[in-house]
Amino acid sequence: MFDTSLAPGSSISLPKSEFDVLLSTLREQGYQNIGPRLKDDGIVYEPISTLADLPRGVRSEQGPARFRLVPGNSRDYFDAIPGAQSWKQYLFPPRIRLFTARKEGRWQVIPPDEPALRLALIGVRACELAAIEIQDRVFLRSDYQDPVYRQRREGLFIVAVNCLYPASTCFCASLGNGPQVRKGFDLCLTELDDLFLVEVGSELGRSALARCASQPASAFVQQAARDGLHRAASEMGRALQTGDLPGLLTGNLEAKHWEAVAKRCLSCANCTQVCPTCFCWDATDRTNLAATETVRERAWDSCFNPYYSYQAGGGNTRPSIRSRYRQWLSHKLGTWKEQFGAFGCVGCGRCITWCPAGIDLTEEIAALRKEVES
Ligand code: SF4
Ligand code: SF4
Repeated sequence: MFDTSLAPGSSISLPKSEFDVLLSTLREQGYQNIGPRLKDDGIVYEPISTLADLPRGVRSEQGPARFRLVPGNSRDYFDAIPGAQSWKQYLFPPRIRLFTARKEGRWQVIPPDEPALRLALIGVRACELAAIEIQDRVFLRSDYQDPVYRQRREGLFIVAVNCLYPASTCFCASLGNGPQVRKGFDLCLTELDDLFLVEVGSELGRSALARCASQPASAFVQQAARDGLHRAASEMGRALQTGDLPGLLTGNLEAKHWEAVAKRCLSCANCTQVCPTCFCWDATDRTNLAATETVRERAWDSCFNPYYSYQAGGGNTRPSIRSRYRQWLSHKLGTWKEQFGAFGCVGCGRCITWCPAGIDLTEEIAALRKEVES
C-alpha cells in the first residue's frame, strides 16, 4: 500500500487499475469529480464516476475554425486536448443568481441558497492551471474578493495532467506555461502505457492517495515521462513572440492592420466565451409584474458585444469591430500585464479553434509586427 510518509514533491507509479480508488476516495472526502467526457463529437467537462468515463483512445485535431476527434493510443485517457469548454465555467459560472430582493413590508435582500461546492477537477492542463492563476488575480484581489469565485476556488482539489500530444493550435510553451505542469496542483499525472506517474503536490494530494496501491516511481518511468514532455514541447503547433509586447500593441493603436482584421472578424464573441481567462460579465435584474420581487443575475458578457461599451446618454466607446477586436487583443497581450502583472493569454489556442472566421491571434500579432517594422 501507499507509503504515507511520501511527502509532497515525491512521485509514485499508480497502475491505471487503481485510479478508480483515487476517485472514490475523493468522493468520500466530499468532492464531486469533474473530468473530460465525450459528448456530441466534442469534449466537455462534466461529472465523472470512473476512469472509464474519460475519452479513451482519442486525440483531437485542431486548426483555425476546426476541431475533430481522431483515433489515438487505445490505452490512453488523457491524449485529447480539450474542446471549447474550460474549467472557468465551474469557478466563474456563465450565469448565476447573486441575490433576490423581495418586498415583504420592507424590501428584504435574500442571498442565494447554494450549497458550498467542493469540486475535484480531473485532468487540468498546464495552460488551464495558468488560466486559473490569472483568474485568481482578477477575482481574489487584495482590495476585493468575489465571494462566488472564492468559495468555489477554496473548495478545489486539482488533479493536473501533463500534455504529451499538444494540438496544432497550442502555443503554451512560448508563453512559459506548458506543456509541463509545474505548480498549483494537488496531484499531477503523466500518462504512460499502463500506469500514471503521479507527482504529489500537497498534503491533500497525499491523503487522497492513501488507499491506492502504488510504488515509488522508477528512474525508467521518470525518464519516459521526461522524454514525452520534451517531445510535446518540440511538437507544439504554434509560437507567440512576446519580447516586444505589450509595447507593440499599445504603441500602434492606429495601425492599418486593425482594419484588415476587422474585415474578417464577425464580432461573434466566441473567442471570449471559450477563453479561460476572459472575465467580462453583466448583471441583470428580472422583476415580477407586481414589482414585489426582483432577481439579480450575473452572466458572462464580452467586449465584442456592441452594447458592452454603451454608456448612459447614448455614447459607445467601441462602436466598430475594428475598435472591439483591437480592445480585446491589446488588453490580452498589452494592458492586462500592467493591470494584473501577467498577460491575459496562456496559449491554450481555444480562440483559434473556435473562431468561425479562423482568426489566429499569433498570426495577427505577427502581421501587426510586420506592418510596424516596414
Ligand atoms: S486568448 Fe486564446 S489562446 Fe490565449 S488563453 Fe484566451 S483562448 Fe487561449
Ligand atoms: S475573432 Fe473570431 S471568435 Fe472572436 S469575435 Fe471575431 S470572429 Fe468571433
